[in-house]
Amino acid sequence: MRLVVDLNRCQGYAQCVFLAPEVFALHGDEALRYTPYADDSRREQVARAVAACPVQAILLDEVDKADEAYDLPPVGSDVR
Ligand code: SF4
Repeated sequence: MRLVVDLNRCQGYAQCVFLAPEVFALHGDEALRYTPYADDSRREQVARAVAACPVQAILLDEVDKADEAYDLPPVGSDVR
């Protein structure tokens, strides 16, 4: 699973850290670190973190959809 945290939006409330400590961690007072390619076995934990984030800074499935939307055909393929 792929996820992104909008660090401009993140306020360091740390709900995600408590709910999915294998994926999110706080360094110092407010600097959030996270695993952008988390194991699928953590999906439920991450989904709870997404729901709990008070500023909706964590994007989960939207990232995969965005990748699919920009899927380009291989170079040299006959797409017109
Ligand atoms: S819960 Fe949201 S605001 Fe809080 S640290 Fe995590 S991403 Fe940032």
